[in-house]
Amino acid sequence: MARYKEAVCRLCRREGTKLYLKGDRCYSDKCAVDRRAYAPGQHGQSRKKQSEYGIQLREKQKARRIYGVLEKQFRNYFEKADRQKGVTGENLLRLLERRLDNVVYRLGFASSRPEARQLVRHAHFTVNGKKVNIPSYQVRVGDEIAVKEGSISLEKFKELAELAAHKTPPAWLEVDAKALRGRVVALPSREDIDIPVEEHLIVELYSK
Ligand code: SF4
Repeated sequence: MARYKEAVCRLCRREGTKLYLKGDRCYSDKCAVDRRAYAPGQHGQSRKKQSEYGIQLREKQKARRIYGVLEKQFRNYFEKADRQKGVTGENLLRLLERRLDNVVYRLGFASSRPEARQLVRHAHFTVNGKKVNIPSYQVRVGDEIAVKEGSISLEKFKELAELAAHKTPPAWLEVDAKALRGRVVALPSREDIDIPVEEHLIVELYSK
């Protein structure tokens, strides 16, 4: 499947906010958003008033890029969210949050969502004891996510266990950082989802 392969910091600069796509670097003074707080490209520094459509489009792109989801897949999430009971925008964010790669990141077992996606793809994780290598896999309440036995001793996961020990997961997840395992204890509420996205703008965009 096609993926964005260019410098991901450009995506943050385009959206004008940190999307946290590069792990530790995002928290350092090397962050491109902190160093060059304007859009990339020739016209990046010119101030242009955005149309209503432009604002909605940017919000959708921001959410899509935070979770690393392609356009078609994002649209499918929206349609699914729209069919569910409740507020469509919140349903959409909940579906995105329940992706296995996001959960791995939220548990602290990866330093960024792109890294989490790669680790899942390389089959380092199990869900309820079974190997799962699908980043979009939707976790459910009660699921146990763990680093597979054969991977626990890898240097990479020793480092990640350290990282996870210093992170606090959101209220809907429980983590045992030392054992490199976690559990889904509830569905995420809107308050649990700390991403800088106004989801109602995405709903407005797709409802045109
Ligand atoms: Fe975005 Fe991280 Fe790059 Fe900063 S360092 S621009 S937050 S990907």
